[in-house]
Amino acid sequence: MFTFVYQLSSMTLPSLKHWFKTYKESQLFGRYIFGDHVLPLIEKHKSNFRVDCIGQSVLKNDIHVITIGNGKTKILMWSQMHGNESTTTKAVFDLCNLFAFGEDKTLQIILKSCTIAIVPMLNPDGARAYTRVNANDIDLNRDAQDLSQPESKVLRAYFDDFNPDYCFNLHGQRTIFSAGSNNKPATVSFLAPAQDEACTVTPTRKKAMEVIVAMTKNLQKQIPNQIGIYDDAFNINCVGDTFQSHDKPTILFEAGHFANDYNREVVREFIFQSLIIAINYIAKKPIGGSKYEAYFAIPKNEKLFYDFIIRKAKVNAQVVDVAIQCQEQLVGNNIVFVPIVESISNLDGFFGHKEIDAKEYKVLVDGKKELEVGNEIDFVTINTEKFALVL
Ligand SMILES: [Zn+2]
Repeated sequence: MFTFVYQLSSMTLPSLKHWFKTYKESQLFGRYIFGDHVLPLIEKHKSNFRVDCIGQSVLKNDIHVITIGNGKTKILMWSQMHGNESTTTKAVFDLCNLFAFGEDKTLQIILKSCTIAIVPMLNPDGARAYTRVNANDIDLNRDAQDLSQPESKVLRAYFDDFNPDYCFNLHGQRTIFSAGSNNKPATVSFLAPAQDEACTVTPTRKKAMEVIVAMTKNLQKQIPNQIGIYDDAFNINCVGDTFQSHDKPTILFEAGHFANDYNREVVREFIFQSLIIAINYIAKKPIGGSKYEAYFAIPKNEKLFYDFIIRKAKVNAQVVDVAIQCQEQLVGNNIVFVPIVESISNLDGFFGHKEIDAKEYKVLVDGKKELEVGNEIDFVTINTEKFALVL
């Protein structure tokens, strides 16, 4: 009885926040996370956990799995299958620190009932190049059936060998998504992927949905209306859909945008908290899958955001709105956000993370040229004033 009470109290928001502050991996920051950053951390955790090399990428970079705990219920998670989606990688190392150095009794209870296998970087080549795809230009999340790539084979072989009870597919999403049709970014999105064309709500999916509901309850207190459900069209070439179709409850995590958080350090904490909530929920008792219904009340992701919208801009003698979206480019060791004009039209119903009111003044590039879709621009001139497009 005492154990149960203790367990509840340590999953409160103040304790989750305290854990993040205390155990956040200080060696990781920002968007560009690749082998140089994570290999020393994998090395560090060899003294805390079992670490195995489970294969290699196209360019012969090692792919590792960190195994924590020795309980009966097995959770497999993998991050950075898309090389430029690094937020969840930061969060899994925060989680490793928590389990390595945290002294809370709840953690011991979790590790007695669960075995957690973490592949922190499935696509090391894409991570280094800061691309979604691997070194053969293949999207690994469309290769679950073909298994044409070494990284896909590594994950599939480990999945077959480990035989998980739950899978967490960890990703990051662009700044374009809103949670529903509101002026709120989808800071975190989840999905219990479909396992058939009809998107049947199967017992397997219900279990995944129930865990998502538990995570959403915690997030709603902090980022109300900023949690979305990712697009759920069935695609058996996606890893989540494939694993779900093997009746392994699988959850897609998407780390998204929070106001001004282009380094994704704020959402990193939300992912960290969500991972603990999910693991604890799974560890506590077998999931029946009956508490899934609130999943359907979570709004669906929509593409309603741009990084900038200039409202009421006079372009080619017409008053229109201008949408500008930043493209991430790797320059040296930094990610540079390059603003590109995406749309010149009426953008009612769309939102800018930053909005500028041009008050029907002329808006020009370089102080003289008319704006065109596709323009790369660092600043615009509104009337005679320069506005820098800085995130
Ligand atoms: Zn992704």
